[in-house]
Amino acid sequence: MAKAIRIHEHGGPEVLRLEEVEVGEPGPGEVRLRQTAVGLNFIDVYHRTGLYPLPALPAVLGMEGAGVVEAVGEGVTEVRPGDRVAYAGLPVGAYAEVRLIPAHRLVPLPDDIDDVQAAGVMLQGMTAQYLLRRTYRVQAGETILVHAAAGGVGLILCQWARHLGATVIGTVGSAEKAELARAHGCHHPVNYREEDFVARVRELTGGEGVPVVYDSVGRDTFMGSLDCLRPLGMMVSFGQASGPVPPLDIGVLAQKGSLYLTRPTLMTYTARREDLLASARELFEVVRSGAVRIEVRQTYPLAEAAQAHRDLEARRTTGSTVLIPGC
Ligand code: NDP
Repeated sequence: MAKAIRIHEHGGPEVLRLEEVEVGEPGPGEVRLRQTAVGLNFIDVYHRTGLYPLPALPAVLGMEGAGVVEAVGEGVTEVRPGDRVAYAGLPVGAYAEVRLIPAHRLVPLPDDIDDVQAAGVMLQGMTAQYLLRRTYRVQAGETILVHAAAGGVGLILCQWARHLGATVIGTVGSAEKAELARAHGCHHPVNYREEDFVARVRELTGGEGVPVVYDSVGRDTFMGSLDCLRPLGMMVSFGQASGPVPPLDIGVLAQKGSLYLTRPTLMTYTARREDLLASARELFEVVRSGAVRIEVRQTYPLAEAAQAHRDLEARRTTGSTVLIPGC
């Protein structure tokens, strides 16, 4: 048995319940992991509310964690008992002291990345990796637009894009967040609660627009983001913190300059083990080089996951957030 945060129905943060759950022995290809740190991500909110479906209820939420391998099932070759590991992605079940997880989803942790840092960076950092290096390959000298620039993914995108030689325009929801984004590589923070971000992007690019927009805000920014793109630009819609994007008439992409649109997910980009390991390796390299600092700016006891959800949804968090089991 282990303590875990489980939901029995979809709803607000109040549906998150601290319970004792049965863990059991790892089956073939599985590992039993004792977790020391659990990452909080906006996708956990979508799972809690039901915006993204879960296979079954009740369910333990969470997509990211770090800890020590306690036991391995038959046929596991990727890791051994005692190994320090981390993971990001499906299957859900991270909000727990101990969990079972497929061994092929685990990434061995280097000694210079501690467990809290790992749980703070794996999901958001590998997301930044595929967005900047694979979905659209950002080049030195380009000017790009990043929404929610002071958030978990946002702070990593800003630092990494600047490291690649790009000029970063980043939208944020307050003056404090503007300063934080600026301190993490964002050249031009724009408070989109006070300023028209489309007009500002046009001004900063001499009317030309940007080659790529990384949009995780969704409903509130989607159409404006299209207006920030130059002809043949790439709209990367990778999240919906403000709500789902309404159905789109694809003719709009033609009218606005033969635009490209993609709706990527980390799961597709890390489904193959070699891609997962390559993405993690590239992430660890930029962290080790100092180009990207891991910013775990909030920690909560796992038992207080509901408060962490409230703060994330109310836009009170910045950078990454980690839940600590057993305290
Ligand atoms: P963040 O730390 O970025 O938190 C979300 C931020 O979105 C808020 O801090 C807020 O910043 C901004 N926001 C704008 N409008 C709203 C609103 N109405 N309600 C709440 N927040 C709002 O979260 P994460 O770093 O965990 O995730 C960022 C986004 O990236 C999410 O949309 C997530 O789903 C997505 N994502 C997608 C992945 C993929 O592979 N497709 C993988 C990982 C994350 P501000 O106040 O500055 O506007």
